[in-house]
Amino acid sequence: MTGITPPPPAQGCRNAPVLKERGQREVFCGLTGIIWLHRKMQDAFFLVVGSRTCAHLLQSAAGVMIFAEPRFGTAILEEKDLAGLADANAELDREVDRLLSRRPDIRQLFLVGSCPSEVIKLDLHRAAERLTEKHAPHVRVLNYSGSGIETTFTEGEDACLAAMVPTLPATEERQLLMVGALPDVVEDQALGLLRDMGVAPVRCLPAHRAAEAPGVGPNTVVALTQPFLNETAALLERRGARLLSAPFPFGEEGTTAWLWAVAEAFGVDAETFARVTEAPRARARKAIAAAAETLKDKSIFFFPDSQLEIPLARFLTRECGMKAVEVGAPFINKQIVGPDLDLLAEGPVIAEGQDVDLQLARCRAARPDLSVCGLGLANPLEAEGMATKWAIELVFTPVHFYEQAGDLAGLFARPLRRRALLTGLEGAA
Ligand code: SF4
Repeated sequence: MTGITPPPPAQGCRNAPVLKERGQREVFCGLTGIIWLHRKMQDAFFLVVGSRTCAHLLQSAAGVMIFAEPRFGTAILEEKDLAGLADANAELDREVDRLLSRRPDIRQLFLVGSCPSEVIKLDLHRAAERLTEKHAPHVRVLNYSGSGIETTFTEGEDACLAAMVPTLPATEERQLLMVGALPDVVEDQALGLLRDMGVAPVRCLPAHRAAEAPGVGPNTVVALTQPFLNETAALLERRGARLLSAPFPFGEEGTTAWLWAVAEAFGVDAETFARVTEAPRARARKAIAAAAETLKDKSIFFFPDSQLEIPLARFLTRECGMKAVEVGAPFINKQIVGPDLDLLAEGPVIAEGQDVDLQLARCRAARPDLSVCGLGLANPLEAEGMATKWAIELVFTPVHFYEQAGDLAGLFARPLRRRALLTGLEGAA
């Protein structure tokens, strides 16, 4: 296709050496995903089988979003439950019975595992099977782990969607399956563009309601909207689906390339594609240009956190003129982020995993204009006079596709403007 600017780099990062680190990590656990998943799946309930720490995490992280009938809760296993696993299972069953009798609107119940050793000992998979049998056909009970030992924060969504894949009905229908929990307004925009191109039918995982769960089969073409859905993608492939290979839909270039990969798979001609995308592309370019004035030539350092780092580095370097110093990601699956790595010009350190002290030392030595990191690292770096961006905001803010491209660039421009203001004030004092 034509029209992508600037041209792809002579040498991308797909084959660049990867600095692999294993050490202390500074990230949220997979329970965090519940905060956006519960909004998306309207007849689902997330029951965290965990400790008071887990309950506190959810309450403090999601406190502002709790409404009259929340769609998540915590079954806290007390010390006394440790007396025997039979007791713990009975307690869990009682908790689920209570919940389901009080909330007949629930159609999908996720038992979400956590860190405490007593929870790890519980076989939540068997519990889910047992409870599904008991409450069928009204409610399906599934399980996944959100434990901080096993998951970083976006892996919670991957684990949740992966738990659903084996339960999806089989279909032979030729269809596009858009995978990833997007805010509704963003999902609607994407569906609108695909509809205007004539791509149909398009289904979404996760669906809003259990009854709308998509089918999957050999004629299913999967377009991931999030780069952290490694296990989900692998399980969909195992069910016969074909995974599209494309950059992720961040920024004008990423969105166009992502849509074009879909268009090619569904035989959309170049003229139709251009007609549908021309106006939103122009809007996106204009909106990005406004924020890019602040971002141009500024250096950026990514700590591994959301798994969005590689596609975002591609967007910020190619469309906003930033210079990437280091791009760290918790995991690098080249099948999934390969097309973004191809477009990211060689130069930055590509790091996988984390040894937080070593990485902080590299960051301090580089003194980047902006560091993207978790909440735990942001405060110390800010105290040292460095501007930071919280990675978690990137999953809570609508950032995909054309109409959000300007907001996405703006998320990175804001801390730089703030830092410039502070420095100016300090200079004037
Ligand atoms: S890290 Fe473990 S104990 Fe802490 S909130 Fe997450 S699942 Fe619960």
